[in-house]
Amino acid sequence: MTKVDVLKRMIASAESIVAFTGAGISTESGIPDFRSPGGIWSKYRPIEFGEFLASAEARRESWRRKFATHATLQRATPNAGHRALARLVEQGKMTAVITQNIDGLHQASGVPDDRVIELHGNTTYAACLDCRRRYELDWVREVFAVDERLPVCTACGGHIKTATISFGQSMPEAEMERALAATLAADLFIVLGSSLVVYPAAGFPVLAKRNGARLVIVNREPTEQDDMADLVINAEIGATMSRAVGVN
Ligand SMILES: [Zn+2]
Repeated sequence: MTKVDVLKRMIASAESIVAFTGAGISTESGIPDFRSPGGIWSKYRPIEFGEFLASAEARRESWRRKFATHATLQRATPNAGHRALARLVEQGKMTAVITQNIDGLHQASGVPDDRVIELHGNTTYAACLDCRRRYELDWVREVFAVDERLPVCTACGGHIKTATISFGQSMPEAEMERALAATLAADLFIVLGSSLVVYPAAGFPVLAKRNGARLVIVNREPTEQDDMADLVINAEIGATMSRAVGVN
């Protein structure tokens, strides 16, 4: 029996599956891993949240970077890995997709919004930091196109930022709570494309395992938590999951 067959059996016998996804599932859709060597964060120091708040130049620089990488993100579409998870959600077997990704590809693959838990936010739209009103990026770009004018909230005058969690910004409480509840209810926890080094997000697989769930890790490279896992598959996510779930 191959490892994929083992995974297939584990999925078949599970009742409450949670997926935990990282950059590796998105790189298969052509989205660069910003943390990898050669990624944008190895060339530019990240703009921390405090700087964004304090400095207009930092806000301008963050919008410059956003629009420099925006086209790549807009072209990206979900891959077989995303579609396999969407199928499991549709079948009622997968209760939640906890993601470190900010690209919105799980929703684009058909997973309903209320089943996707975004620990690091979402970069496909923006929001007011004070009143949380949502703004579309096309609007921000129109504003910014005129002498790099900074967008401000039309309702409250607050700063507008992509709806992501920046370095130095606290984790979103509601999402952390939802992720915790889903993790504690899981009997099978599948990590896909995360090297499991960024905490507190990387604490969820540990918690699932300690709580009695079976833990599967699918990642191209070994991770920090392989020793704890019931099954480790070092292969492409799309190829692995499409065979395990039976989607194309
Ligand atoms: Zn506002």
